[in-house]
Amino acid sequence: MMRVSIRPIKLGADRCYILQGEGTIMIDGGGPGQAVRFRKAMEKLCIDPRSIRLIVLTHGHWDHIGSARDIQEITGAKIAMHQREKDLLEKSLKPLPPAVTVWGHIFKRIMTVFLPLVHFPPTNVDVVLDNDERSLAEYGIPGRIIYTPGHSLGSVSILLDTGDAFVGDLAMNGFPLRLGPGLPIFAEDIQKVRESWKLLLDQGAKTVYPAHWKPFAAEAIRKVLLCQEFGEGQPLGRHQVDAMPRFSILIPARNEEQFLPRCLESIQSAAEPFPNQVEVVVAVNRCTDRTEQIAAEHGATVVHEDAKCMAKIRNAAAKAASGEIIVTIDADSWMSRNMLVEIDRLLRTGKYVGGGVIVLPERWSLGILATCVMISLLLLRHRVSAGLFWCRREDFEAIGGFNEELVSVEDLDFAKRLKAYGRSKERRFTTIARAHITTSCRKFDIFGDWHLLKSREIVRRILTGRSQKDADHFYYDVKR
Ligand SMILES: [Zn+2]
Ligand SMILES: [Zn+2]
Repeated sequence: MMRVSIRPIKLGADRCYILQGEGTIMIDGGGPGQAVRFRKAMEKLCIDPRSIRLIVLTHGHWDHIGSARDIQEITGAKIAMHQREKDLLEKSLKPLPPAVTVWGHIFKRIMTVFLPLVHFPPTNVDVVLDNDERSLAEYGIPGRIIYTPGHSLGSVSILLDTGDAFVGDLAMNGFPLRLGPGLPIFAEDIQKVRESWKLLLDQGAKTVYPAHWKPFAAEAIRKVLLCQEFGEGQPLGRHQVDAMPRFSILIPARNEEQFLPRCLESIQSAAEPFPNQVEVVVAVNRCTDRTEQIAAEHGATVVHEDAKCMAKIRNAAAKAASGEIIVTIDADSWMSRNMLVEIDRLLRTGKYVGGGVIVLPERWSLGILATCVMISLLLLRHRVSAGLFWCRREDFEAIGGFNEELVSVEDLDFAKRLKAYGRSKERRFTTIARAHITTSCRKFDIFGDWHLLKSREIVRRILTGRSQKDADHFYYDVKR
């Protein structure tokens, strides 16, 4: 088999590749303004730029085509691109693909801010690709271009006969996009991403060269696909009906008639794959509205705890729980449909003691964004997450549930203790990344979007967990 040398060169965020067999081609055209970098890289690699005869653009996002015109001028190479995306290069368009994970949504928000600063020159596409395979033999490379839509609808991959696959953004690996190899966090059609991957794996892809970050073994993707089919298609436990419910969902509630229905409905959707295996326990706290009736109408177990102490209220609900797995959620939050499937999947691996989730606010403002950053930093410092806790009931009981001596930050304390306990059992505390909760912004509505950031003293006292006065002001005596 003809040997092909693979030389990565980083142009902006884009990791381009120079492939040298009997002939030389380049994959991807780098971010905008990378001409000088490109020349220097060529010099360093001792490659004559004029030897490059073809530049294959994996897709039309600006971070992959920004320097295509400059590189074309330097090399004299032809540019190949799928017909569905040639307009993006010929008219300098810069669409942002839809996010398909929670982090994708956040990342996209950040990108939107910077996008107006991005400019790149248009140029013509010389070789227009369609959905058919195209051999690279005429360019002296033993391999072919394969149509692999999904991340964008005009994405292509280059698969060498050796099994080396250059996939653009069909896979992502590494910070800041992902923490490890996996499917992209942005995609026009995530189902097509999976289909394209099946095609590439069937065709013999062995090593994956993504456009952002380092190469990895294709086996990692095979695992992701298997895992997701398992998670989404046929949740474990669907056919088993236990005497003991699998899940107990605990909700503390004080005058929550406005929010509780949405929370309970989200639990009902998430519980669909687990018929008769999900119980809900609502701990009502000094309610003067219809909270208790609403809970009962939805078939929840109701317990009473009137203490101005969130830990006591949550523990009261836990005492009435009979499920194998404890899940906590606040009445003014709601969970994504796949939450219980994800919790089920993670706990079944035996690797995790439990953990928290990603929390999205129901609306955004600069004040809310800044507050989220502050809270994230606090959680990051302790390397935990919160929002919704999930763990086995036996582990919940082993650590004594929530600490009733605290009138605030009982959640942070719980997370830290659960994590420490898990470590002693060689199981990790983790954050669910594929499911999330959304939470109301009523605290911001009442106190103002900048309240927490402006009131450092109050925050400091709340973080001690022992100031009843501040906890009353901020939690227990808020008018509802
Ligand atoms: Zn892309
Ligand atoms: Zn990209």
